[in-house]
Amino acid sequence: MIKKIEISPDNEKFLNKVNELSGEVITLCEQCGTCSGGCPLVTEMDITPSQMMRLVQLGQKEVLDHKAIWVCASCFTCTVRCPRQIDVSKVAEALRQIILRQAVDHIDIKAIPKEEIACLPQIALVSACRKFTG
Ligand code: SF4
Ligand code: SF4
Repeated sequence: MIKKIEISPDNEKFLNKVNELSGEVITLCEQCGTCSGGCPLVTEMDITPSQMMRLVQLGQKEVLDHKAIWVCASCFTCTVRCPRQIDVSKVAEALRQIILRQAVDHIDIKAIPKEEIACLPQIALVSACRKFTG
């Protein structure tokens, strides 16, 4: 039987949000480290996939500050190897979604002079709007 981890209501809310968005049951993770051991991008990450899972289990929102969630390439290596059948890539995707849904604009399109907009490649403008506006 899996022992329930005691966390604060606020942390539980965050955990439930990630459960809901990812469709995974994150508390099932047993911290075996198999996902971290097989991840081809772990050397580029600031925390390992299993550490990411642990922070989410504990409802620690600081997990959103780690670049690992953006480095994950959704290659599914961890997903096929996880003994608990957890799709870790979906968890990373859920964390990215939480950030993207904050709808923060990192660039102000209206502040770009019309002359510059006329010169800029349209594909670059569209790409910038997708990535840097909420
Ligand atoms: S492989 Fe699965 S059970 Fe093991 S640490 Fe990663 S997510 Fe948790
Ligand atoms: S899906 Fe992401 S976390 Fe899992 S092995 Fe691939 S890059 Fe690593």
